[in-house]
Amino acid sequence: MTPSAHAGSAGTTRLAPSPTGSLHLGNARTFLATWAMARCAGWAVRLRIEDLDRSRVPAGETARTIDLLRWLGLDWDGPVLVQSEDLEPYRAAMRRLAADGRIFRCERTRREIAAQALSAPHAGEGETRFPVGLRPPEPAAWAFLEAHANHRFRVDPGTVEIRDRFHGVLHEDPSETVGDILVWSRAGVPTYQLAVVVDDARTGVTDVVRGEDLLESAARQTLLFRALGHEPPRWHHLPLVFDEQGRRLAKRDGACRLSALRDAGVDPARVIGLVAAWSGLLEAPAPMTAADFLSRYDPDRPAAPVTFTAGDHAFLLDGSSG
Ligand code: GLU
Repeated sequence: MTPSAHAGSAGTTRLAPSPTGSLHLGNARTFLATWAMARCAGWAVRLRIEDLDRSRVPAGETARTIDLLRWLGLDWDGPVLVQSEDLEPYRAAMRRLAADGRIFRCERTRREIAAQALSAPHAGEGETRFPVGLRPPEPAAWAFLEAHANHRFRVDPGTVEIRDRFHGVLHEDPSETVGDILVWSRAGVPTYQLAVVVDDARTGVTDVVRGEDLLESAARQTLLFRALGHEPPRWHHLPLVFDEQGRRLAKRDGACRLSALRDAGVDPARVIGLVAAWSGLLEAPAPMTAADFLSRYDPDRPAAPVTFTAGDHAFLLDGSSG
C-alpha cells in the first residue's frame, strides 16, 4: 500500500478483518471509524488478515477482503500482515510463556470442562469457565513441546482494570469469568486471543479500535500482554450495528454483506454515506467519498448503537444496477 503521509509516531492502530467472506456493514462502520480516528490523530494504520482458522477461510478470500477495503476507500501503512504466513512469532511467545511456567497442555474436551465447571456458561458466547481443578498436576504438562495439542494459559485470581474510550472504566477478574485461557489449538495454530496480542505487540499497536462484541476479550488480552512483557494498548470498543429485529448484523443476512452489495452494483459512496449518517456526520444518508467522511469526522463525538433499516437498504440500492 502507499505509505500514508499521516503515518507517524503518535500511535498505531490496525484493521484486523477475518477473511471468512462475512464482512458486513457493521465492519464497514468499524473500519471507517478506525481509519478516520487514526488519520485525525496521526496514528499509523496497519492491516492484518486474521486467517488462522483455516477451515473458515474460503480460497481467494484474503484477496477479496483486501479488495473490499480498497473499494471502501480505505488505505493503510506498510505491508499487510497475513497471520498464517509465519507462525514463528506465536511459537516464540508460547516458548516464553512456557519458560515462565504459565501454560499447560490440556486435552480436556468441552464436555469434560462443562461437566466440572462450577459456573454457568459465560454469557453470550456459550463459553464455560475452565475449572482450576482441571489443571494438570504433573510438571511435564507445563510446557510447549507439542504444537498439535491444546494449551491453556494459567489465569491467577485478580481484577483487571480496562479503560475504554467509549465504555469508561471496567473491572473484571478473568479467573472468575473464563478461567485458564485457551491460547494454542490442536490444529497447530495459536487461538485468536494469543494471536491478537502477539501481533498487536510486534506491530507496535497503541490503540485498538474494534466492535464492542470483543470488549469481553480485553481483560484476557491484558493478561497476555503483561505476561509477554508488554503494556496493553488503549481500548476503543465501538457500538454495534443491529438489524430491525434487534440482532447484531451477521453474515447470514445477505442484505448487509459488503460483497453482496458490491456485486449488486452498489456505489461504495452510498455505503460510506450511510455510515456517515450512522456516525452523526450527516442528518440523513447521502453519498460521499472516504475523504469526505474523514474531513467531517469528529473523533470526540460519542458513538451510539445503530439499526440498519429497510430504508437504509433502499438508500444503498438506489441508482445501482442490481
Ligand atoms: N478479526 C476480528 C474480527 O473480524 C477482529 C479482532 C480484533 O480486532 O481484535 O472480528
